[in-house]
Amino acid sequence: MFVGADCNTRRSGVNGACGDGAVHDWKGWDMAVSTGIRRRAFVVAGVGLLAAPMILRQTAAVAASGDMTKMDATTQPQFNQFKLGSYKFTVFKDGATIAEKPYETFGTNQKPETVQDLLAKNFLPTDKFVNTYAPAVIDTGSDVILIDTGFGEGGRARGSGLLREGLKASGYSADDITLVALTHLHGDHIGGLMEAGAPAFKNARYVVGQAEYDFWTDKAREGTAAEGGHKAVLANVVPFAEKATFIGEGDTVASGITAMLATGHTPGHMVFHIESDGRRLVATGDTANHYILSLQQPEWEVRFDMDKTQAAASRKKVFDMIATERVAFLGYHMPFPAVGFAEPYEKGYRFVPKTYQFDL
Ligand SMILES: [Zn+2]
Repeated sequence: MFVGADCNTRRSGVNGACGDGAVHDWKGWDMAVSTGIRRRAFVVAGVGLLAAPMILRQTAAVAASGDMTKMDATTQPQFNQFKLGSYKFTVFKDGATIAEKPYETFGTNQKPETVQDLLAKNFLPTDKFVNTYAPAVIDTGSDVILIDTGFGEGGRARGSGLLREGLKASGYSADDITLVALTHLHGDHIGGLMEAGAPAFKNARYVVGQAEYDFWTDKAREGTAAEGGHKAVLANVVPFAEKATFIGEGDTVASGITAMLATGHTPGHMVFHIESDGRRLVATGDTANHYILSLQQPEWEVRFDMDKTQAAASRKKVFDMIATERVAFLGYHMPFPAVGFAEPYEKGYRFVPKTYQFDL
């Protein structure tokens, strides 16, 4: 999902994939894809590792105009690091946008006042919302794995596309990335694959969901609402096909990392289950895109979910597992640093942001 910047990027045909771009195209898609989630026993880790969380810079100034390009007063990168077992995580803030009328994106099958009431109850503004973008690096010791790429250069005019600077600030370079794993192929997740007409991560292999790739590369998208996304995938993902492994439900991304289908947001959307030394985290991509509206009311329809019913079913399945097994999750659009837990709450889940759980 990406809010606000969608149609600009779509027009460019480079990063584009209007979040709702393929709604009308959806009916033709084969629903046979499984959304099964494998459950595993939760094992409590006995040993924690020290890792100082770093927020490099918290910018306080926010543009009063509501101009979504000026969420941060500077383009200083932000990152947050922690350990999951023996894996080192670094979560980056690729950017943030401010968008109007949250009820036109979340809870679109509800009355606007119902959405606004839930926002107000949770101490949030009712007329605007902030959306952030959180690509992450998992350093396993043998691989440096990037999950999703942010907007890349196409987002920089709007203050996004900060991943590359964030990598540098955190001690990595783009050349250190050995594997790029994509949850799905919307522009805010694939825009960073190319930089100045060349591969942004020149030493990387790629892992892409087969169903997702097949959907967006299909010429049947031409002339439909999904054409912008189709062109973006042709420009940003297809060039890497020879270096890509195409995966499906239950396949291994890398050591300790397993992919699971969680479709609906897009036809082949995947989540990644990561386990190291008995500690677990699920990278949920865009399964849920607002920490209150999507988690407390998982059945509420979201404008950017291409199959709204299936997206709600995936949301409940994935977050039921996360809440029941009390595992952490990294949600691409959760409030930075985008990592937390979910506990059962009324009809859905309450987001519990991480604090020092991984630092002891
Ligand atoms: Zn997204």
